[in-house]
Amino acid sequence: MIERTLVIIKPDAVKKGLIGEIISRFERAGLRIVAMKMLRLTKEEAAKFYPSDEGWLRSVGSKSLKSYSEIGKDPREDLGTDDPVEIGKIIRGWLADYLSMGPIVAMVIEGNRAVEVVRKIVGSTTPYSSPPGTIRGDFSVDSPDLANLEKRALFNLVHASDSPKEAEREIRFFFRENEFVDYT
Ligand code: ADP
Ligand code: MG
Repeated sequence: MIERTLVIIKPDAVKKGLIGEIISRFERAGLRIVAMKMLRLTKEEAAKFYPSDEGWLRSVGSKSLKSYSEIGKDPREDLGTDDPVEIGKIIRGWLADYLSMGPIVAMVIEGNRAVEVVRKIVGSTTPYSSPPGTIRGDFSVDSPDLANLEKRALFNLVHASDSPKEAEREIRFFFRENEFVDYT
């Protein structure tokens, strides 16, 4: 099933000179880029990109709580709360800082099962546990405990839509209809 998904090469990856490396991984898998731009968001613009519904906040907060329990640390020490939604809100603020701290490259990638395939190439949210061969596993060792201690987002190099429905919203955030290039 042909799908479209949004990928953002985040500021840490641009700074590390990884734009070409990252794009080539999608190309060699047989996916194709149908829209692309380099830009810099303000913090306010970046904040609008991330969802603010309770489901999303809870999901991000729960992942963070899981990593705290893995290392046996009390999240209240760093974050002042152990409520997943509250933690999600804190992380959402850090994400706006992260996405606006430098230039980014946004692109729309098209192909068979593009959403899932791109997530597979990108790896898991947490770089230190993301397998070798994935973008996040190969180019970062960041972990949530370190990020939360330093009161910043997890620097994980790329964003990729996590469902076709989210992809649609995220693509519309960055691109208009006349910015897509149709080719075979
Ligand atoms: P993904 O990017 O893998 O889809 P999420 O959508 O759950 O991950 O989270 C969005 C972004 O929030 C992540 O890419 C990461 O930069 C940041 N993030 C997620 N969890 C944490 C955390 N516990 N601490 C700091 N930043 C986090
Ligand atoms: Mg996500």
